[in-house]
Amino acid sequence: MTPVAAPERTCVGCRRKRAQAELVRFTLEAGRVVPAGAGARGRSAYVCPAVECLETAEKKRAFGRAFRAPVTIDPTVRPAVTRRTSDERR
Ligand SMILES: [Zn+2]
Repeated sequence: MTPVAAPERTCVGCRRKRAQAELVRFTLEAGRVVPAGAGARGRSAYVCPAVECLETAEKKRAFGRAFRAPVTIDPTVRPAVTRRTSDERR
C-alpha cells in the first residue's frame, strides 16, 4: 500500500502546515476576504478551524499578505471558522 500524500497548506495565522482538508479556505472577492465556495478559483488563504488562528491572521494582516492586496475581513469569515470548530468537537 502506498500512502497518498495529502496536499498541505500553511495556516496564515499560526503558520503551521496542515492537511488542506483540515483547513478553512478563504478567497478574495472585490477586496473582501470571504469563505471560499466549492468552485472558488484564484488565490486563496487557509486558516485552521480555530478563532485564535483567525485573530492572529487579522492582527498580523496575514490575509493582506496572502492576497497581496489591501483586504477587508468579511463578517462571514468568523462564523466559517467557528462553525468548523464546533463540528469537529461534536
Ligand atoms: Zn493555524
